[in-house]
Amino acid sequence: MSETYDYDLFVIGGGSGGVRAARRAAALGKRVAITEEYRYGGTCVIRGCVPKKLFVYASKFSEDFEDARGYGWTVGETRFDWPTLIANKDREIDRLEQAYRTNLEKSGAEILVGRAVLEGPHTVRMTDDDRRFTARHILIAVGGRANPHPGLPGAEHCITSNEAFHLAELPKAIVIVGGGYIAVEFANIFHGLGVATTLIYRGKEILQGFDDEIRHELHQAMVRKGIDLRCEELVTEVEQREGGRLAAHLAGGEVLEVDQVMLAIGRKANTENLGCETAGVALDAVGAVVVDHYSRTTTPSIYAIGDVTHRLQLTPVAIHEAMCFIETVYRDRPTRPDYESVATAVFSQPEIGTVGLTEAQAGKAFPEVEIYRARFRPMRHTLAGRDEPMLMKLVVDGATRRVVGAHVLGPDAGEMSQLLGIAVKAGVTKDDFDRTMAVHPTMAEEFVTMY
Ligand code: FAD
Ligand code: NDP
Repeated sequence: MSETYDYDLFVIGGGSGGVRAARRAAALGKRVAITEEYRYGGTCVIRGCVPKKLFVYASKFSEDFEDARGYGWTVGETRFDWPTLIANKDREIDRLEQAYRTNLEKSGAEILVGRAVLEGPHTVRMTDDDRRFTARHILIAVGGRANPHPGLPGAEHCITSNEAFHLAELPKAIVIVGGGYIAVEFANIFHGLGVATTLIYRGKEILQGFDDEIRHELHQAMVRKGIDLRCEELVTEVEQREGGRLAAHLAGGEVLEVDQVMLAIGRKANTENLGCETAGVALDAVGAVVVDHYSRTTTPSIYAIGDVTHRLQLTPVAIHEAMCFIETVYRDRPTRPDYESVATAVFSQPEIGTVGLTEAQAGKAFPEVEIYRARFRPMRHTLAGRDEPMLMKLVVDGATRRVVGAHVLGPDAGEMSQLLGIAVKAGVTKDDFDRTMAVHPTMAEEFVTMY
């Protein structure tokens, strides 16, 4: 049957999910084409996880220089040069983009450049030159983009995380709007680079959905560092003033004059003008592609994975969904993506690492819940004189003793959460933690010595 189509698979979007699906399908001998309208690597590589983490590393040096003094170092005058960071970051992103292309080439997939839209259940059109391609299956992997804030007067003066990676100058003062991953990570990045940073969040506490104690402790740590963090507050207008400065008007009446206002209020699926309606692909109320448990859309020959489906907007999840798509469609092994106990990290300073249920969620799920916690000052902070406690927490189902949640706030929490993720996924019990010999002296050893 596949002879009647140009390709077995046509992938729209060269980000985390699309590239993985294209490579795997091509490796299985399928005739695959993939197209990308901007840069291969997608959000994660070009304007997400990777440049963000490089910025996190850059911003952490300011505390490292301070901490070194307690260890006997005399640190001379330090100076940060933003253009150097941007240029070096850009070079690394170029290298990674090339690596993505090389890996795709090696897999045998045909690499196209340009925007594609759907024209039917088996047809796509390249918008640049009107070329049409047919495929037995089409995979929508177009990701998302930062939500604009149409209701906010002066939103056009604001930046999002996209622009934050390319600012010509490091701002002296910034207001960041939002209380999710991006707002919190960037508040810490800018603060660490010496920018006077104000975070404005509409809710009671930042990072809704994370464990309450961890959220509260991070909030306190950010305030102690000098971040002006305001909850239950709104920016109601952004006004441009002479000299390019911006005035952020707050609901409480205050006006903050800053160099940049950054909006980090969530992301929106890239489905505008994608032709979903023409191809019979249903969208939900916020424009995300509706899929079943196997990532199949309402048109049986079209699948969708990654951020465009608004399931869990994380790179490893997009990749996992790609692998499940391959199993389902090309290996005759229908496989549902597994969203249980997905470990994740917020690269704030201090970091959050988390997997499984929060204390509040476990309280609703189980009649009896045991909480184990350790709150201490990491050894590294002692000589440094840094007043920043570490918090670790295990959430245990009292009936079975299974560890159903593990949460960390502190240095290297992201790294810890990767390994905690394996333990929680494997269904280990608190007794398994207790039987595990500690690695001493580490911070993570506290997880096996909680009584
Ligand atoms: P994307 O990576 O967005 O790829 C979609 C691609 O499709 C894009 O390159 C786009 O240009 C292209 N495209 C769109 N429309 C078309 C079209 N019509 N034709 C052709 N091409 C098209 N996740 C983590 O796990 N860890 C992190 O630390 C992390 N940090 C992040 C930091 C930031 C600032 C942001 C914004 C996101 C971060 N994420 C992080 C989320 C992560 O980047 C996404 O979940 C992931 O990139 C989703 O992959 P995807 O394949 O669904 O989409
Ligand atoms: P999030 O959904 O995490 O957070 C959005 C924030 O904006 C929330 O605090 C929300 O408030 C607030 N908000 C929404 N609408 C408005 C509004 N109209 N006015 C004021 N505030 C508003 O989105 P992000 O943009 O931070 O990140 C997008 C996704 O990217 C994340 O959810 C995550 O999946 C992924 N990501 C992952 C990272 C990682 O793994 N380390 C890092 C960065 C991004 P409320 O809570 O009240 O709804």
